Amino acid sequence: MTIRVPFVDLKLQHQPIQAQLQQAIQLVLEQGDFILGEALSGFEAAFAAASGAEYGIGVASGTDAIALGLQACHIGAGDEVILPVNTFVATLIGVLHAGAKPIFVDCDPQTALIDLEAAAKAITPQTKAIIPVHLYGQMVSPRDLLDFADTYKLLIFEDAAQAHLAERDGYRAGSVGIAAAFSFYPSKNLGAFGDGGMLVTGDPDVAQKMLRLRNYGASQKYVHIESGTNSRLDTLQAAVLHQKLPYLPQWNSDRLRIAQQYDIELATLRSAGIIPMENQSGTGHVYHLYVIKVDDSCLRERQQIQEQLTAAGIQTGIHYPIPCHLQPAFTNLGYQQGDFPQAEKLAKQILSLPMYPGLSNSQIQEVVVAINKSCCAFNLLPREVVQ
Ligand SMILES: *Cc1c(COP(=O)(O)O)cnc(C)c1O
Repeated sequence: MTIRVPFVDLKLQHQPIQAQLQQAIQLVLEQGDFILGEALSGFEAAFAAASGAEYGIGVASGTDAIALGLQACHIGAGDEVILPVNTFVATLIGVLHAGAKPIFVDCDPQTALIDLEAAAKAITPQTKAIIPVHLYGQMVSPRDLLDFADTYKLLIFEDAAQAHLAERDGYRAGSVGIAAAFSFYPSKNLGAFGDGGMLVTGDPDVAQKMLRLRNYGASQKYVHIESGTNSRLDTLQAAVLHQKLPYLPQWNSDRLRIAQQYDIELATLRSAGIIPMENQSGTGHVYHLYVIKVDDSCLRERQQIQEQLTAAGIQTGIHYPIPCHLQPAFTNLGYQQGDFPQAEKLAKQILSLPMYPGLSNSQIQEVVVAINKSCCAFNLLPREVVQ
């Protein structure tokens, strides 16, 4: 099977800047400072500034940015942390590794973002923080979040793993809460040549504690004032990421162009029950993923549409097929099927279409034509709509 439209294409992103990436890697090889090297602090400062934050602390992954970041914010044992149930499992794992108790809430079916009304109902005297996940590249409204946090006296800890440089209500992802976690997993909007992550914060105490936690709890060499771990962003990865950072705005705007093109081309398929997830933040959405949902009435057809796209050489994904509360590893949290009806339904409706900088208009058209064809095949559309 030849792939006509891949889900992501990282080569396309790296080829035009290959020489400068190799040069940056070469420099680290020559300097030999592979751990906590010069290129790391340079990138930390640049990425924090780009995200509207004072401090950046590079770690081994986005998961560690959440787990250690929560601890750096003094969130842990005895604290409850509210998070959306429809997130990548790493958000949950981060909360658990910090020692806090995860409290799931449902989502808004139009955007798939956390439902703040549901969150308000989940608050108890133990609630310490809320983790808004800026899912698919769209921020949870900072205005609503800040109102919420102010009303209930909670900390905001952003999961911005899918939202590098996203904006909404005049805020950047990373500048809303006490701290924010980013991931540099290769396919994220800003990706390393392996795993990586960063905590950004405006709070100097949180930054200092985070610096210790990622480095065995050391306040200075061989003096350990708390029990930390080994989780640092490699100097090599930081060097690569720093070279890529200046291109991130143009890559994000290319993602926006692609999303707008999908929106236009998919408009005629609304009557067939194909509905793009809502963009409520205009040009501030950075479209880590472009997600459509099939109407309630065609849940069975989602799989068939996906299979037909695969057969046509078009790769798609589902983000995410099983909400966190139904994952086998976490039944001990005490949740059950039916607890989060919106997220459970959405998991059966959603489909992520190919999305990456450089995806061409003709490829977009190919994807939409293939969706259109399968809608007709499954009688979601009358034949005459076929172009
Ligand atoms: C990718 C991702 C993470 C985890 O990042 P890793 O670098 O893979 O550990 C956390 N939360 C969300 C929403 C993500 O998409």
